[in-house]
Amino acid sequence: KLYNEVQDLKGNIRVYCRIRPFLPGQSQSHTTIEFVGDDGELIVSNPLKQGKENRKLFKFNKVFGQATSQDEVFKDTQPLIRSVLDGYNVCIFAYGQTGSGKTYTMSGPGLSSKSDWGVNYRALHDLFHISQSRRSSIVYEVGVQMVEIYNEQVRDLLSSNGPQKRYPFPFFIEKYTKYYFLDLHTLGIWNTAQPNGLAVPDASMHSVNSMSDVLELMNTGLMNRATSATALNERSSRSHSVLSVHVRGTDLKTNTLLRGCLHLVDLAGSERVDRSEATGDRLKEAQHINKSLSALGDVIFALSQKSSHVPYRNSKLTQLLQSSLGGQAKTLMFVQLNPDVASYSETVSTLKFAERVS
Ligand code: ADP
Ligand code: MG
Repeated sequence: KLYNEVQDLKGNIRVYCRIRPFLPGQSQSHTTIEFVGDDGELIVSNPLKQGKENRKLFKFNKVFGQATSQDEVFKDTQPLIRSVLDGYNVCIFAYGQTGSGKTYTMSGPGLSSKSDWGVNYRALHDLFHISQSRRSSIVYEVGVQMVEIYNEQVRDLLSSNGPQKRYPFPFFIEKYTKYYFLDLHTLGIWNTAQPNGLAVPDASMHSVNSMSDVLELMNTGLMNRATSATALNERSSRSHSVLSVHVRGTDLKTNTLLRGCLHLVDLAGSERVDRSEATGDRLKEAQHINKSLSALGDVIFALSQKSSHVPYRNSKLTQLLQSSLGGQAKTLMFVQLNPDVASYSETVSTLKFAERVS
């Protein structure tokens, strides 16, 4: 194994909490964050309420305070990401109410500067860097998919208007037809019970060879996501976006094949919608989000309890990620918090969700 450090981390599910800073112009006087410990402890309270009973203590694998840089967050995520090169499947989620920093953590505030890059750009950059360093006899290929799940429907964010290049199954078939099939037969991959790393069979797979390929694809994805949003209805906060990075390594010495897959998921906002106010489409959206987030919580909970029944089939999201949740797969949840007192009740419900899955 190339990256043993991952092995040392306990269990396959970990939960990191990240608190976003106050934004310019936001009053800092009413923070709900009372204490951030070095070992993952967090105390939240409502400064507008008296009494000690409103203080609540939570414990995570890690808590990132408001001053934490993108780089620091990535450093603690990197071993997990690198385990993909050893053939592991990894899912990384960002959970929290709209405005809590999910997109900031997963992608960053835009494509402005490298120091602002979120986990997804850094992950791809890192995987490329390593896969091309040729330290071993393994030759790696990287393919990317990007979809959005909105109202329980999956939409490919990378299908362009032009003629579409699809690599439905298996991928890279054009380039590697010959020894791909050889490998498939010798390793008996077609017959294994475990589904292959291709979790999104209907979405286009894009082979990438450089970081600029990646940036171009991610731009396309972001544009496709944005064009479906109307001014009044900011859809990106009501849909889940899933960026999947498929890595295939061929060991030229032993003629063996290894696959790993990394899913980076920017979840829909977890905020409760006031039932008395939501009607029509908005209510339908809210119900779909609610259903899929609780389905995700149920799956992770079942896995953390080592339960024999894992209810994958209750949402599109968990169905899609089934092969990368559970078994040998590794899961990381970023629980995002907005420190403002106005968000206190959402903060508590976010933390309760996190507590259940950690
Ligand atoms: P979400 O995706 O959860 O709705 P965003 O990622 O869009 O939230 O964050 C909301 C706002 O807060 C954005 O303007 C974003 O740039 C800013 N923000 C979030 N996290 C941070 C952070 N760690 N440092 C600086 N600004 C942040
Ligand atoms: Mg967002």
